[in-house]
Amino acid sequence: MPKKIFLNGKLVSPKEANISIFDHGVLYGDGVFEGIRVYQKNVFALKEHIDRLYASARAIELKIPYGKTRMTENVIKTLRANAIIDGYIRLVVTRGPGDLGLDPRKCYSPTIFIIADRITLYPEELYQKGLSLIISKTRRNHPSSLNPNIKSLNYLNNILAKIEAIKSGVPEALMLSVAGEVAECTGENVFIAKNGALFTPPASVGALDGITQRKVLELAGRLRIKTAKKKIYEKDIYAADEMFLTGTAAEIVPVVRVNRRKIGRGVPGPIMKKLLLSFRQITALYGRKYKV
Ligand code: PMP
Repeated sequence: MPKKIFLNGKLVSPKEANISIFDHGVLYGDGVFEGIRVYQKNVFALKEHIDRLYASARAIELKIPYGKTRMTENVIKTLRANAIIDGYIRLVVTRGPGDLGLDPRKCYSPTIFIIADRITLYPEELYQKGLSLIISKTRRNHPSSLNPNIKSLNYLNNILAKIEAIKSGVPEALMLSVAGEVAECTGENVFIAKNGALFTPPASVGALDGITQRKVLELAGRLRIKTAKKKIYEKDIYAADEMFLTGTAAEIVPVVRVNRRKIGRGVPGPIMKKLLLSFRQITALYGRKYKV
């Protein structure tokens, strides 16, 4: 349990960290958030996360009452108050308390809270043995209904897919777009490797513009692995040599089965292993200037 929570400008105990039941974040999932990692007192890609938070807020016409510099300071302040060395930050901005109607104009003051906690790491076994997925029947939100690039508090689309996965006895589900292209998993982006090159779906199919995805593309470039953003279909997955997922919490996780079919040789592949090794080398260095 964290010692202090940042809530609307103050550091309070978890017991005092209460928000209104009239908050539209609670009533309607009306808000935005970020999940951020801290490695050895370095906040990984903090600028990118803060930029994405403000872009998500702008997209839902939610005005954050102060700028990015102050928000960055608030994140650091919360980390210091909890003496976090390796951890995870949840930064949330909701529309704030309003009445029971949808009208966001009745919400006068956004609720801002930051939770900095120690991280529960995924079991190492996952990285050694790889993950099995199903392809969910729940299609990813169509970008013209709800742009998946907005990291909003409304995760029901993903949660429904997650429930399908759990009912099928696997931890994760792959989500397709309405048009049948591979979009992403419920909380991670997707990559496949074929003939030594890496492919990941473009933003146009309706996946979150993942920060780990961006970093993995950068790393692959440095390792002279060819990369391309291109549409991927179910058949491409079964023909792939390797498959893996990327996300802030999971980092880079190998996928070895989809709908019970083996991907590649059915074991984590060499490209994924190489990338994970390099990724773990840069995490503690990247974003050094935000030293806690
Ligand atoms: N897609 C979804 C739906 C997500 O929620 C996330 C973040 N958990 C990602 C992809 C991965 O994004 P990032 O690498 O920025 O954490």
